[in-house]
Amino acid sequence: MSSQRYDLIVENARIVYRDLVIDGKIAVRNGKIAALLRVDELVEADQTIDAEGRYVLPGLIDSHVHFRTPGYEHKENWYSASKAAVAGGITTVLDMPNTNPYTDSVERLRQKSALVSGQSFVDYGFHIGVAPGKSSVLEALNRGEAASIKLFLTGHRTAKHIIDDDAELDYIFRLAATKSIPLTLHAEDDVVLRLFRQISDEPSNLSQYEAAYPRSGAIVAVARILRLIRKHDTSVHVLHVSSSEEADLLDAAAEAGYPVTYETTAHQLWFDHASALTQGTRAKLSPAIREPRDRTRLWESIKRGTLASVGSDHAPHSKAEKDFDFNDAPPGLPGVQELLSVLLTGLKKYVPSLTREERLLTVAKLLASGPATRFGFDHLKGSIEAGLDADFVILDDEKKWTVSEEHILSGSGWSPYEGIELEGQVLVTIVRGQVVYNRGQFGEEVGEPLVLQKEVTKSFQHTAGSPYYVLA
Ligand SMILES: [Zn+2]
Repeated sequence: MSSQRYDLIVENARIVYRDLVIDGKIAVRNGKIAALLRVDELVEADQTIDAEGRYVLPGLIDSHVHFRTPGYEHKENWYSASKAAVAGGITTVLDMPNTNPYTDSVERLRQKSALVSGQSFVDYGFHIGVAPGKSSVLEALNRGEAASIKLFLTGHRTAKHIIDDDAELDYIFRLAATKSIPLTLHAEDDVVLRLFRQISDEPSNLSQYEAAYPRSGAIVAVARILRLIRKHDTSVHVLHVSSSEEADLLDAAAEAGYPVTYETTAHQLWFDHASALTQGTRAKLSPAIREPRDRTRLWESIKRGTLASVGSDHAPHSKAEKDFDFNDAPPGLPGVQELLSVLLTGLKKYVPSLTREERLLTVAKLLASGPATRFGFDHLKGSIEAGLDADFVILDDEKKWTVSEEHILSGSGWSPYEGIELEGQVLVTIVRGQVVYNRGQFGEEVGEPLVLQKEVTKSFQHTAGSPYYVLA
């Protein structure tokens, strides 16, 4: 019977599994899911967690965060950001390169990974950046060392490395395709946005901001990169899509076989231009939050299944920085802790046709299997399957809570959702079989670097299938 003994059993679980929910137990050994067991199966384990009939989701993945270590620790640091993440059910993050120093070489990737080691509640991978004129350093990059190559086609206060030169873009798209490394893109066209700066004054408040940083910047950038994707067959994930036109273009391109996917962010799904106005500088963002019709179109992408992932774009700044004059306040907001609840609450509001379980299955696709597949680590994470990492979230999906200062774990100390009632609260978060969060109490900083070995599939599909053959 010794082979039947497990390290951990999560029992009385309603397991959010592939395309359905099943009742059972999850057995964990050596940090991996050893088996999914029937409710009545008798097993022994060193530790048993009673899920009390709650839903258990795969550990969630936020593939778009700015945890600010190193160089901007006055805004946020890896320890506090990853603590906020596990309180929100996130077990893996992919961090963006615009730290200081800029993460634009293999050496700097290794340095950042070493800095984060021992500070992280979540597992982690990194997107590598490119400094203009220095893209040849990517020749030394191997698949697996970075989740993607991140390009900023336009910049802002905390993203100064703009790649806008046609020849350099062409070179990077070709190189990424050769190396089978996906690109992630901040797709707003710098020339278009600078034109608008020439004909109009800098906006002095949020009500003028969207018109000054308009959708045309994003649409032109997407059209530009589609030509490069077609030319080089480069796998591209477009970040924080904000407009209906981008979604239309990207859906059409994917339908036509272009290896392109996209994310949007929780704040673009939640707010619109008008509802964000009370936030003032806190909702100054790059790209801007747009109109209700754009938000409707982004929810439509979720309904159609064409949205690959939702990111928090957790980009915290200190309260003091966000209190600067509108012109001087940096763009970006925190949100890793609220990501799951915002998506779950938004699904109920904007896709009312979904059942309770369909909402949870949708969350699992957008925040787990979607990003794991897109960035090539679905052989490790993203679903509750025997053999994968034992990353789970036990969720009280109907618990309503109003975000207030007492909840906020981000080092920035504020949230754009303060005062807003959300639905769905995380009870327990488990990373590779270790409890890192349990009803307000935290475990150890067990986070480890991700091993990204798998080839990234170019055509994106959410997984589906019957669960029963894996039930031991
Ligand atoms: Zn970002």
